[in-house]
Amino acid sequence: MGGDDPVPTYCPLCVSRCGARATLTDGTFVALHPDPSHPTGKAICVKGRAAPQIVYHPARLLHPARRTTPKDAADPGWEQITWDEALDTVAERLMTLADSDGPESVGFSSSSPSTSAISDAVDWVQRLIRCFGSPNYSNYMELCGWGRYLAPLYTFGASVPGVYLPDLENAGCILFWGYNPSVARLAHATSTAAAVARGAKLVVVDPRKAGLAAKADHWLRVRPGTDAALALSLMHVMIQNGWYDVDFVRDWTNAADEVDGRTVWDLLASRCAGFPPDAAAEITGVAPADIVATARTLWEARPVAFYTWSGLEQHSGTTQTIRAINVLYALTGSLDVRGGNVLFEDVPSNPIDGTEFLDGERPPAVGVDKRPLGPARFEFVTGEDFYTAALDRRIKALVSFGGNMVMAHGDSTRGREALRGLDFFVQADLFMSPTAELADIVLPVTTPFESEALKIGFEYSQEAQSLVQLRQPLVPPRGEARSDLQIVFDLATRLGLGAHFWEGDMEAAFRHQLAPSGITLEELRAHPAGVRVPLTTRYRKYADTGFATPSGKVELYSATLAAHGYAPLPDFEEPLTSPRSRPDLADRYPLVLSCAKSLFFCETQHRQVAALRKSAPDPQLEMHPATAAARGITAGDWISLNTPHGSIRARAKFNASLDPQVVFGQHGWWEACDELGLPGYPPYGPASANLNLVLRQTPSDPISGSSPLRASVCNVAPLSAAGHEGRDVARSTHADNSLT
Ligand code: SF4
Repeated sequence: MGGDDPVPTYCPLCVSRCGARATLTDGTFVALHPDPSHPTGKAICVKGRAAPQIVYHPARLLHPARRTTPKDAADPGWEQITWDEALDTVAERLMTLADSDGPESVGFSSSSPSTSAISDAVDWVQRLIRCFGSPNYSNYMELCGWGRYLAPLYTFGASVPGVYLPDLENAGCILFWGYNPSVARLAHATSTAAAVARGAKLVVVDPRKAGLAAKADHWLRVRPGTDAALALSLMHVMIQNGWYDVDFVRDWTNAADEVDGRTVWDLLASRCAGFPPDAAAEITGVAPADIVATARTLWEARPVAFYTWSGLEQHSGTTQTIRAINVLYALTGSLDVRGGNVLFEDVPSNPIDGTEFLDGERPPAVGVDKRPLGPARFEFVTGEDFYTAALDRRIKALVSFGGNMVMAHGDSTRGREALRGLDFFVQADLFMSPTAELADIVLPVTTPFESEALKIGFEYSQEAQSLVQLRQPLVPPRGEARSDLQIVFDLATRLGLGAHFWEGDMEAAFRHQLAPSGITLEELRAHPAGVRVPLTTRYRKYADTGFATPSGKVELYSATLAAHGYAPLPDFEEPLTSPRSRPDLADRYPLVLSCAKSLFFCETQHRQVAALRKSAPDPQLEMHPATAAARGITAGDWISLNTPHGSIRARAKFNASLDPQVVFGQHGWWEACDELGLPGYPPYGPASANLNLVLRQTPSDPISGSSPLRASVCNVAPLSAAGHEGRDVARSTHADNSLT
């Protein structure tokens, strides 16, 4: 550790996990650079470059603390305590509740491993939860993971595209739907740019012309939440023209099955025929000629590699939308073929996420009664269900590893009430936040650059998936901070679960995880850039075992969905919160509010980091210039964003690529940046810039409970200069934090 030689590492701040080299000067971490020799290291983003500022930020939490005032007090009165006091208190409260109310009365939460460094520890967090015996884990699955990981199980029996990843290096056509890798997953963006340069076709479906959409052969500007109609129309064109893989459909889907005297294929074709391009254009805003041309490209340029993310989540019809796109993808015949979506071979390792503890009798997860096929089936609890269970006292405690629950979910005010009502709440985190402020105990967490982590496989290609790397700490932990991993192990031993956690010995746990690979920790420490295991991709693995669906085939028609009263064929329903669905609100709220990730911040984090905030100093609302002109708004004006649930503020940013009926906001604005003198914004109340303050988690997707955060009625108006006074209310939220 140290010296001036660059240290091989990777950035785990988001799902891209970019290979990098760190520069240290006299033991101080000063810079992070891309490492082109690493399979994910072609580039790093501004957030990765700002890593030293995150590590050394003055507002970091450095000591455990407990609150000394009631939950509704303006000042939590944090009091520094020792780790032993903190962990003993947490363990005692959890065990008491487990004895009196059952382990299910303790909920767990974490930030998303796709947008934070909890990826270092998330499998271990899950092991702790399962071992403790609680089925109630809230990790934002319904907001950003359902469409990639769990919903596709009802079509493919596998996570496509979350685990069967796009083979971008060999794709003939790349389809990105509701996904902007330039912001969300940089390694995909660099691979895609290379693929386009060698001649691959690119199709981007996005209401904004963002990132790689500018390079796309087809950019389809879909009206938010109408993607299922577009997918059904594309399928209609493909079926009519014979632009589908006949052999795959015949041999590997349930197309030939009969339902009420008709084949599934006939039923699917009829469903799609309800969405001819002219009709779909009226729904989606995508021109008929573009639908036809895109369908042709998907066929002629296959194999198709596809990926989707949050643009398709957070809608009242998310599951059927994912179903429609999954079935469309099946028609291309590109699953598990070179250049399609591929399950790359894994380095052998022992699973450590505690699946073995799921055997036997377990209490049901909150929400499984209402949505038996949704996230709760897999023991993930939606934000709305968590709030309800906390408010009606089925859940009485929360253990949270990062995350910012009240800012990340719709209806922040209800979230605050739910967290205030808990008997006990402990949050492990890097910084204080509107969620952490509601905790009884806060535990200081290291940044990933101060801690060790084991990464087996980097996902993007067979080469990447063959790499094992032990990321070593660049600098010692600041203050008394401990890694999430360490906290999991410390807590497990105090909860009497040490036998399942190698009695707290993390190194022994890593050795167990690595054992089948034949790689040792010593080898990994000697090779900080990682050790590569020679592996070869096998394709069409389904030919050996079939698909992991009830029928063993790709299910164009899902009998499972039918048995639970849901549409068994993919279908489109107008978003329940759009102006078309709510004509009663459309006069006052004629616009559609959606949202998109910022390049500069991971979700609700990082606004306090000057290197990032300087490029994005204010919360913004993107709108078409015509939308603004009609309301007397000029670029850069402070505006009021109004929904039926209240108003927040933002600065107007013009984006001529948008439909004039659609505006795009950013969630996660609350934190001040003292170094730049830029203000914070209160999470609640009239001076707020918190998008989720004016959105609700219902009406949600009936199958998954996904919240309608990306297609809701709204309007915008100029905010008078007087109206913007007081925006400094939340300035320096951490300025008096004596813990730092
Ligand atoms: S995209 Fe940026 S934040 Fe994400 S892993 Fe790469 S460098 Fe880190």
